[in-house]
Amino acid sequence: MSDLLEITKAFLEELQSRLVSGGSDHSLPPSSFKLWFGDFSLVKLDESCAVFTTPNDLRKNILIGKYGDLIKSTLCDILGFSVEVSIYTEGEFSDFSKGDKDTSSSSSLSSEEGEKFYDYSERDISESISDTSGNASLLDGYTFDNFVEGSSNKFAKAACMAVADEPNTYNPLFIYGHSGLGKTHLLYAVINHMKKKHPELKIVYKRCSSFLEELIAAIRAGTTNEFKEFYRTADVLLIDDVQFLAGKEQTQEEFFITFSYLYESEKQIILTSDRPPKEINPLNERIMTRFEGGLLADVQPPSLELRIAIIKKKSEDMGLSLSDEIVEYMAERLHSNVRQIEGVLKKLYALYSLSGADITKKKINEVISIIDPGNVPIDTIIERVLHVVSEKYDVKIDELKSKKRGEKIAGARHVAIYLIKKITDLTLKEIGNIFSRDHATVISSIEKVESNIKTKNNYEEDIQSLLDLVKK
Ligand code: ADP
Ligand code: MG
Repeated sequence: MSDLLEITKAFLEELQSRLVSGGSDHSLPPSSFKLWFGDFSLVKLDESCAVFTTPNDLRKNILIGKYGDLIKSTLCDILGFSVEVSIYTEGEFSDFSKGDKDTSSSSSLSSEEGEKFYDYSERDISESISDTSGNASLLDGYTFDNFVEGSSNKFAKAACMAVADEPNTYNPLFIYGHSGLGKTHLLYAVINHMKKKHPELKIVYKRCSSFLEELIAAIRAGTTNEFKEFYRTADVLLIDDVQFLAGKEQTQEEFFITFSYLYESEKQIILTSDRPPKEINPLNERIMTRFEGGLLADVQPPSLELRIAIIKKKSEDMGLSLSDEIVEYMAERLHSNVRQIEGVLKKLYALYSLSGADITKKKINEVISIIDPGNVPIDTIIERVLHVVSEKYDVKIDELKSKKRGEKIAGARHVAIYLIKKITDLTLKEIGNIFSRDHATVISSIEKVESNIKTKNNYEEDIQSLLDLVKK
């Protein structure tokens, strides 16, 4: 058991004895204690600060509002020294990914914010960076230097570097790719670089959603002129996540006017989107043409090699020691998204850096299942499929995998094969191997199930409910 778990346990016992057995100002029936403190756990501790998590905002607010002082004094008594205590929701704590978290929405029980020891989880920058007075410290972490390069992002990085060095080299520069692949990081890196190299430039960074909100507010308040003026005086405009323009006709129009004005004045514009311009739909034809008229650069999901490099770099930077085997294991499990990789590393850091315990595959799996419940190892998925199919059709797992051909067994086997194909990205051959069969058999099983779905009553519902069971 890790130290943190042990301390949590001791803390809860002590707290419960103080609350339930009832000093006069706090007395609580055991069931209520469970309600508020059931999932309350200590996730980080050092000599000056402690962080607890609880499942949601409601509980967080109640805990802070009603029990804040008691939590703090009980913990300090247990520890024998005084610490500042912060409470976060599990989401706030583990979901470092959203990018919209100013830590002030987390809740420190003391006036001194938890931020200083919490900065490893910080990933946001100020909403808008206008000129060099913007909040630079929040941006510092995102540079070209710490953007790990691989074939999937090399081109986008090079394009950003070129533009940061020499604005208006490519205009506009349009970076696109799925979420969590480093687009915002690249924009921040551009800003950081430009601030050093071209301190005289007025740089304006906005998330597209904020741009739209501001615009609407300006229209309501009758201040569109000021709004336009602000943007028109930019030397460099970076708009993040422009896919949010889709379908917003009136705001597209306004965006187009600002965009064209800057473009024609040869001001650098950089845009990001989770998809290429053509797929932002519906989007005004003229805007599309402009987007496509500059340089388009995509970021693709990282290769295994790049994932390994990223995990190595980030864990080293954090001072988290991972064996090569563990690094590779993580890289295999976390394949689609760098944000997710980061989330897992930060959680590992939060949970294990102080205890100094070895980080094992088991711990990795636990953390992944908290951060990304849908990300289950392939072996486990296969086991679950075999298990639910075996229960549903009353066929033994061995029989599913056997050569037996009876109608009942074969029917169940078809379903198992179909489900595995549907849920995993295993090849036909790999699926065949599970059942000691060739890929042609796998195809015919899948076809069989598809035809049953069309013809048999309730069959599709059955398949769906099996799918749901496997995913649980
Ligand atoms: P996007 O804007 O594409 O959704 P972000 O730029 O927010 O993604 O990236 C998510 C997280 O992953 C950030 O913390 C970022 O620093 C990190 N990241 C993404 N790609 C890389 C990379 N190639 N090297 C280092 N960190 C990366
Ligand atoms: Mg982003």
